[in-house]
Amino acid sequence: MEIWKSRAPATCKFFSWLAAQKRCWTADRLQRRLLPHPAACPFCDQEPKTIDHLLLGCVLARQIWSVIMGNWGKPHWTPEPEAELVRWWTSLNIEKTKRKETWTVITLVAWTLWKHRNDIVFNGASPSVSTILRQIEAEGQNWRAAALLREARSLPTRLDRLSGSE
Ligand SMILES: [Zn+2]
Repeated sequence: MEIWKSRAPATCKFFSWLAAQKRCWTADRLQRRLLPHPAACPFCDQEPKTIDHLLLGCVLARQIWSVIMGNWGKPHWTPEPEAELVRWWTSLNIEKTKRKETWTVITLVAWTLWKHRNDIVFNGASPSVSTILRQIEAEGQNWRAAALLREARSLPTRLDRLSGSE
């Protein structure tokens, strides 16, 4: 699978693999196992909680992607509300030389969205676009220091200023 070609740390790669297999513990999966679960998406509280919705289609996730993709000059890469993970990332027509970097940033964004979801579900945090952008930025600096991200323009500094909200 293409996403494996990213330079993301192993845990994050493993996460994106699980997400692609829809194995993260979102409501649809918990329900199948008869575990207690919140029925709605913890970000928007509107849509059913599936991993595709949480990471791509949710109004909050799409705000994040739109900032990231806009920064790359690829606003049309922002996922549609009905987007599905594997179909979405295989549909992006990424130049060969940019693939590793792109997969790494996509993994970083998806991973950060997932961590924010956990913060809401387990720690009572409130959904926040600016918090997510700040986390992507901070984690992105770590990844850059570790040479996981190599291009200067992959993530700008002060991402939250680009969001135009909050
Ligand atoms: Zn949602």
